[in-house]
Amino acid sequence: MRKTLLTLALLAATAVLMPAADPAVVRVIGLEELARSLPHDPINVVFDVDDTALFTSPGFQWGSRTYGETIVSAGVSIREEDLPTEEQRRKYREFWTRMNNELDQYSVKKWIAGELIALHKSRGDHIYFVTKRIFTGSERLSETLRREFGLPADSPAVIFTNRQPKTEAFRRINAQVSYGDSDGDIRNSIQAGARPIRVLRSPASVNHEPTHDGAFGEEVLRNSEND
Ligand SMILES: [Mg+2]
Repeated sequence: MRKTLLTLALLAATAVLMPAADPAVVRVIGLEELARSLPHDPINVVFDVDDTALFTSPGFQWGSRTYGETIVSAGVSIREEDLPTEEQRRKYREFWTRMNNELDQYSVKKWIAGELIALHKSRGDHIYFVTKRIFTGSERLSETLRREFGLPADSPAVIFTNRQPKTEAFRRINAQVSYGDSDGDIRNSIQAGARPIRVLRSPASVNHEPTHDGAFGEEVLRNSEND
């Protein structure tokens, strides 16, 4: 009972801190409107990877089933140092190595990302990817993204922040526009002075962390949840 009350109190506190956006004031935009709103000269744009550029739930689902949810959980910031045993930490590194090198063969390009990247390529914009995924020394994610989105072989490699906020990376690449599905993406974009644009997460995603689409005053892309 006490626990239930505590949970309710925490839920109420969370709701006060981060209310759901009022649908009447959420700024929903379409691709054409977005294209018209961009400056004439080329800009630097950054994409989140999971649930923004790619639907990567198959790999995370496999990881949770294989290694357990204490080691792999999409959206939850599990850090290696939080795991109590060496065996768990070894499995954690093994999962991330497999996720970044093999499991994206099951990831699906998001429709909206294909449209957005085509738009930015046509303008001569510089395209970057920043992910909070864990880097364990090797990755084929950059190669996967280049192939899926028709980017040149010498386009910038994915920047991994290892569960840290993305703000520094956004500043370093001088991102002017930033696309992401998580509240963290939007928050970090605002902190770095980039224009945040929300891509909606697919309802089929295994990442169940709540999002507050439009609640930061950011624009929300219409139909961006579809794969
Ligand atoms: Mg994401």
